[in-house]
Amino acid sequence: MFDWLTKRRRERSLAKHAIPDEQWQRALNELPFLERYDPELMAKLRELSTLFLIEKGVVSGATDGESMLEVTPHMRIMIAVQACLLILGQVADGKTVADAMSDFDDWENVVVYPGEFPQTQDFEDEYGVVHKLDEAVAGESWEGGPVLLSWPAVEAGYEESGMALVIHEFAHKIDMLDGQIDGIPPLPAAERAEFKAVIEAAFEDFCARVDADEDTLIDPYASEMIEEFFAVSCEVFFAEPELLSVEYPAYFSQLRAFFKIDPVAGTWL
Ligand SMILES: [Zn+2]
Repeated sequence: MFDWLTKRRRERSLAKHAIPDEQWQRALNELPFLERYDPELMAKLRELSTLFLIEKGVVSGATDGESMLEVTPHMRIMIAVQACLLILGQVADGKTVADAMSDFDDWENVVVYPGEFPQTQDFEDEYGVVHKLDEAVAGESWEGGPVLLSWPAVEAGYEESGMALVIHEFAHKIDMLDGQIDGIPPLPAAERAEFKAVIEAAFEDFCARVDADEDTLIDPYASEMIEEFFAVSCEVFFAEPELLSVEYPAYFSQLRAFFKIDPVAGTWL
């Protein structure tokens, strides 16, 4: 009975707050890698995005001397769609959109800045030494806290910038779900061991290529740390899947299995 009531309430809420067709289409036009996705997946992605916008705040942040950015419905949708892409596969796995959204339960807001902003988080190196970095960044993802994004970096789009910043920052959120920021998403023990071995081999190979000054097709920033390799490779997995499948086929398969999506065919696994 309660389930039925909750379901009805959620359906009404989703209908009431549905993203208007014109705004949805405008966002999709700016995300051409979604063109190949099945209509069935796109319908679920739209529901997830709607629920994301009901449950999460997308608010304006300002840095010193900068005026506040007006967060428009288009900005909110662009962020919601790309964030929800990371949890879309779960819906095929028997979960409802609300269940899938529970991966995003431990935080409330996305803060959007009019440009790069000063890095707020300290950085702990491999020796446990904490550094305060005095750098401007385009994105940040806090454990148990908000995701921070520079709007111009989001707007540039993957085709133009080779970066899908929203996917990158939300990939960090997924990585953090098991309590460790280590480039390995939450997985049962046996699968985790396999994922770990495969990502470490790919990361090692990638770092060697960057060290050898190879002009890599994947952003060399991915060689900074294994968690950055994971976040950058998630961008490539969704926005340019053929590239990752050719560069690191075994790792591509691991990501496919984890996300439960075939981004080349645009279908659920
Ligand atoms: Zn990162």
